[in-house]
Amino acid sequence: MKNILDFYIDNNLFSDLDIDAAVSRLSQALQCRTINYADHSKTDFNEFAKLHELIKSSFKNLLNNSSFKVIGNKAVLIKISGSDKSLKPCLLMAHQDVVPVVKGTENDWEHDAFSGFVDGEYIWGRGALDIKQMLFGILEACDYLIAHNFKFKRDVYLAFGDDEETLNLGAEAIAKFLKSQGVELEFVLDEGGGVIESGAEFGADDNIYISKINLAEKGYADLELSVESAGGHSSRPMGIINGTSLEILSRAIAAICDANLNYNLSNLNNLNDLFIKSFGLLSNYITQEPLKSLVKNNNIEELARYCLEQPGLFPYIATTSAATMIEGGSAACNVMPQNMRAVINFRLNQADNIDALLTRAESALQNLNLHNDIKLRYLQANNPSNTASYDSYGYKALVKSLNNFYKDVIFIPSLTVGATDAHCYEIICENCLRCSPFMSDYNDARIGVHGTNERILIKTYIQGIKVLIDFIINTCVNI
Ligand SMILES: [Zn+2]
Repeated sequence: MKNILDFYIDNNLFSDLDIDAAVSRLSQALQCRTINYADHSKTDFNEFAKLHELIKSSFKNLLNNSSFKVIGNKAVLIKISGSDKSLKPCLLMAHQDVVPVVKGTENDWEHDAFSGFVDGEYIWGRGALDIKQMLFGILEACDYLIAHNFKFKRDVYLAFGDDEETLNLGAEAIAKFLKSQGVELEFVLDEGGGVIESGAEFGADDNIYISKINLAEKGYADLELSVESAGGHSSRPMGIINGTSLEILSRAIAAICDANLNYNLSNLNNLNDLFIKSFGLLSNYITQEPLKSLVKNNNIEELARYCLEQPGLFPYIATTSAATMIEGGSAACNVMPQNMRAVINFRLNQADNIDALLTRAESALQNLNLHNDIKLRYLQANNPSNTASYDSYGYKALVKSLNNFYKDVIFIPSLTVGATDAHCYEIICENCLRCSPFMSDYNDARIGVHGTNERILIKTYIQGIKVLIDFIINTCVNI
């Protein structure tokens, strides 16, 4: 893998951007401990208020020429008014909240997680890659443009949710507010991608590099299984068929996960559009078999089967199941457990939906013929998002700007296998794009995002801001 800096194009654009000031502002943002817990009684909303004050005092050009509104708890919506009301507005977004540092790992950080330490090469801290660089990068780009007297034609909304890592209520509230105002968006730009990878996984040679622009995100479901049992002495289990609550639960988990595997294997023609497009874009570079022949012959079903077998690709193709929690096991070897519960976390592919998933789980249990009742319910569930078009105005403009600043990279459409705030905006937008223009070192992203020693290269931060300036000029100023 090449050094990330080798991909950066230095085109002398926006060379008067004040790097030291931008770095210092991001450093201060990283010092705000904006952790938002699902249980709000644990959340320190003062840290969000501190971040808001920092935004207001840092970006005077922007704030003097826009409206700033707090929505819900601490979500922020900024509006820059454009001159041409016939144009649909666009919305640039990021989230203010960050995940906590894993307990016990605080001292593993080379620099304190909330220090915002700047060592001349990197800016360190929780949120440096997820995703305060995008939050402050968007603000830097807009402030720069207004300071340089660029005139916006299109209305631009800047929307910063406050609980993307937990409940998405902030983004939901902003989207509902905009809908109530009759706003319909041309495009949304949210986090996603943000790394350059080898194309080897797609069957290309190692020296072919790709980066993903995500046009959809998978569905999400936490399925809870619970079973009641009186427990008792383990020398007298409850019957020859069912066994203990732990055994019943184990059989049920296995049956539901097996049914999910069957679903994936029996729906190979569902390979989504984005993947077919990606393989198409890369077809000239694919040298490895069997992918070379599968792509050349447009053999979708076999291509899907192949992808399902690749650990790196399969989350993009399948509805995945991951049994994650089990509670209520016995504390003693000779005591049978009583009531128990478990959770399976699903990520649904674009062809699937949460009703069908529940039906599959129920019939898997029926087939088991268990005598005890297993109750199934969703703790949380949402369907897969819509898919933005790679022919859309926003997508094309984004690829153009990325190509202005990153060389030797093929940008391909893909999907977010996790979850973002972007899906909340589908009620007012058909083209929600998920791509962080801050192309980071692959290892920094792998280790730092939600992990230890999160940090961003100063050069990455500045390059990303320049992409955003270019993108905003192309989509909102020079139209
Ligand atoms: Zn994020």
